[in-house]
Amino acid sequence: MARRSQPKDIPEDLRQSLVKLLINFADELKQEDLRQKVRALVPAFHTLRDLGSSLIPKSEASSARDRIIAYLKQYPFTVIDGNELMVVSGISEWARRVRELRVQFGWWIYSGVTFNQIALNEEDAIALKAMDIDPALIKPDQYVLMRTTQDLESAYRWNVLNEIRKKKLSTKEKIIEYLRKNVGKQVTGEELSYLAGSSKEWARRVRELRTEDGWPIVTRNTGRNDLPVGVYVLEEDRQAYVHDRKIPDPVRVAVLKRDNFRCVKCGWARDDLRPDDPRKMLELHHKQQHKDGGENTVDNLITLCNVCHDEIHRR
Ligand SMILES: [Zn+2]
Ligand SMILES: [Zn+2]
Repeated sequence: MARRSQPKDIPEDLRQSLVKLLINFADELKQEDLRQKVRALVPAFHTLRDLGSSLIPKSEASSARDRIIAYLKQYPFTVIDGNELMVVSGISEWARRVRELRVQFGWWIYSGVTFNQIALNEEDAIALKAMDIDPALIKPDQYVLMRTTQDLESAYRWNVLNEIRKKKLSTKEKIIEYLRKNVGKQVTGEELSYLAGSSKEWARRVRELRTEDGWPIVTRNTGRNDLPVGVYVLEEDRQAYVHDRKIPDPVRVAVLKRDNFRCVKCGWARDDLRPDDPRKMLELHHKQQHKDGGENTVDNLITLCNVCHDEIHRR
């Protein structure tokens, strides 16, 4: 039920009127007529909502949506109950406002559902636990604000996301199509989860796109420590050379770490990224190729920037 706000919402005044209403309700309870009791309780409901929404002053946030984001911004990276958002928003359709904040306004509000899906990848589950978010305990209607500033680009992407979502494609095809439209951009797990619709396996599909199909989709746990947990970036719109695909994530990370996240030929690292430099990303290269019996072992792999890698393959 939509509620207009009262001009004077002073918490203590509202608390007193609520108490008064509940005291008077003692008489109503003695009545026989059910409907009379129900109707007598309505003002208490409204006052309770007003009290909840009065906790954040009008000067700080005037609408239910504003109050929800104001509240989340006070407690970022913290697991917040949907019920808390119900209280501060003062409306019953608070979940819809959360969705709007996420998709139309670009606030990174992750739900428990999405965390559970992200945690299907073991390394991501560990990273979440390091943030005090236990994927085994979080409930579907709990939320975490994962970034304290608005991501206007993700708000802008909303239409593209919906277009691809409607297509008759597999989850994997939808994900790579969306990422290829957002090369180099930070895409949230929330977006991919939305894209996948009822499929809960999108996080696994992302991993397959990287390890099996050789798409350079990086995450916090696969070579890009600078990224937040639950964020995905397609670094370049090109797949790895066929012989350099099918590298499991733990091997990839071990090779990158051994090589200090630098190209072993020229020393380029991601921090050296410049618009006028053709070196854009780090790739792994098999010293001995699969067809010559080369294996996906740490010893048989080296880290190269895309330019040095191309050069090796040209020779
Ligand atoms: Zn290089
Ligand atoms: Zn190679």
